[in-house]
Amino acid sequence: MTDQLQRFIFDNTDIRGEITRLENSYQETISHHNYPEVVTHLLGEFLAAATLLSATLKFDGTLTLQARSEGEIPLIMAEASSDHKLRAIAREADAASSHDFTQLLANGQLIITIDPKQGQRYQGIVALEGNNLSECLEAYFLQSEQLSTRVWLASNGQQAVGMMLQELPASEAITAEQRQQHWQHITKLAETLTAEELLSLPFDQLLYRLYHQEQVRLFEPDIMAFQCSCSETRTLNALRTLGKEELDRILAETGTIDINCEFCHQHYRFDRAAISDLFDTTLH
Ligand SMILES: [Zn+2]
Repeated sequence: MTDQLQRFIFDNTDIRGEITRLENSYQETISHHNYPEVVTHLLGEFLAAATLLSATLKFDGTLTLQARSEGEIPLIMAEASSDHKLRAIAREADAASSHDFTQLLANGQLIITIDPKQGQRYQGIVALEGNNLSECLEAYFLQSEQLSTRVWLASNGQQAVGMMLQELPASEAITAEQRQQHWQHITKLAETLTAEELLSLPFDQLLYRLYHQEQVRLFEPDIMAFQCSCSETRTLNALRTLGKEELDRILAETGTIDINCEFCHQHYRFDRAAISDLFDTTLH
């Protein structure tokens, strides 16, 4: 079965792992657009990475992984929610063709936003330093969370897959020396993993191939799915920020206000009455 996110832990260590494979949700994400191949592949990596990172959410909300750059892809982002819904987009990247990550996202920033349904929004920003998304994420975690993290990502236009290993806060039963030894041992084994294996092997076989001498526990998988979070209400709320005057100006020109969701291409049309209601209700 595809489109899964699955957690695994190593007994008697402070290390946990997440592994994901996305097929239908990835296909649906790219089907709404006509991206160049290099963008399709990188978008797959962003989608897999956002999925892995969403497993660290401790509350209801959405995690957004975003890169802004002066390179061939000015903006690329993927969102994953705590209820396992995904969406992603690349903007103004129709001419992107480089196979070099540092060209695609030259002088870029990596931005991770966590938007809880209730509570305060958190945003972390680091310079994009690395030859691929995995390296940039590892640098991000080291700088902003001070958590040792390793990430493997692969995407081939059909599937997007990823695996993450992360150190948990130290437990009392394990000494600092043991902790370090475990981390080195577990990550060293993972370094033998090829992109081909990541793309082709079922999770249990993949983990067996890497860790048949360790005690690994694989948890029940979560099922991921493409689902855009746009709605009429959210679109109206976004329009409201433009102000009544600006909206009236557009209405005078075109008669309706037309909005196309850039993630899913859902079309929203609002007439004069709908816009008028929008501002009336805010007065109550
Ligand atoms: Zn949408």
